[in-house]
Amino acid sequence: MSKFLIDRYSSLDPYVPGEQPQDRRYIKLNTNESPYPPSPKAVAAIDEDAVRGLRLYSDPECRVVSEAIAEYYGVKRSEVIVGNGSDEILAFIYAAFCDGKHKLASPSISYGFYPVFGALVGVENYVIPLKNDYSLDVEAFVNCPDNVIFANPNAQTGIAITLEDVERIVSASSDRLVVVDEAYVDFGAESAVELTRKYANLIVVQTFSKSRSLAGARLGFAIANEALIADLKAVKFSFNPYNVNRLTEKLGAEAIRDKEWFNVNRRKIIVTREYVRAALKELGFEVLPSVANFLLARSDEIGGEALYLALKARGVLVRHFSDPALKDFVRITVGSGYEMEILIKEIKNIITGA
Ligand code: PMP
Repeated sequence: MSKFLIDRYSSLDPYVPGEQPQDRRYIKLNTNESPYPPSPKAVAAIDEDAVRGLRLYSDPECRVVSEAIAEYYGVKRSEVIVGNGSDEILAFIYAAFCDGKHKLASPSISYGFYPVFGALVGVENYVIPLKNDYSLDVEAFVNCPDNVIFANPNAQTGIAITLEDVERIVSASSDRLVVVDEAYVDFGAESAVELTRKYANLIVVQTFSKSRSLAGARLGFAIANEALIADLKAVKFSFNPYNVNRLTEKLGAEAIRDKEWFNVNRRKIIVTREYVRAALKELGFEVLPSVANFLLARSDEIGGEALYLALKARGVLVRHFSDPALKDFVRITVGSGYEMEILIKEIKNIITGA
């Protein structure tokens, strides 16, 4: 730490992203990326003209991709904001709506970035425990007096709540902000976007990183009523007006228009997920009822960290969390059918000592 760092940041405990090894090729099942490439129509949009256009700044209003997202969801462009990944959108939300007086409660097990964003803007970590079965405590969220954020499906567990339950939480008080992070919604949960028409206290956040195969392009967005989006844009324009680069804007617009590519790939992932779930259960694993593109699983035969290390040594990268509530588990991203066959074969070998 340098002597120049301000006091407020001296105790930051930064988010630790999943490993992104650049040295060796792993079967990479640790950060919930798609095993499939982006839409060929999106790839084709990055032609020589697009690259030559890089001499110009990007559109600060991101009109092309915002319009494509608005059209996809049947909302107005003024109800959409896009960001450099949904992480940036979440950062804007924390910056706009959280301070010592305005707390934001999140589930005790969820996306690890929420408390980090909170610390960055000076709000204490404020969690609502999950139920014993690892599902979200809907009643506690309904009754929480403060602003709330949760992922649906939830991060790390993959367990979703119904749209009716989301609406119960949102409708409980119009004086409270509800942020629903739908990073994994396309793999089997119901989106709450339609509720943004009815409720002025709801923000829905989504990403192009998972179901649209664009993690490396960094594109996320939020949909909410105009006033909330205007607040988020005020933060964005006070931070980085050109937050989405020209190539990403083109990629994103084409990717969201290519519904066929999106549907084919997400269906493949859903089918593969159910194959892996069955195979893991057959090997004696407990597997949480995830509807996301990952499975959280644990075995009495081997601890979470030991399994993670053994798989890594065999070239398969999964995610292990040291958090006491998760340490027995590994989180496995659903990859291609071929990758999953190797995963299952290696787990069998590890368990049987082969
Ligand atoms: N929300 C959740 C629940 C996530 O798991 C992630 C990615 N790990 C994000 C948001 C951020 O995704 P991105 O910045 O790639 O859009």
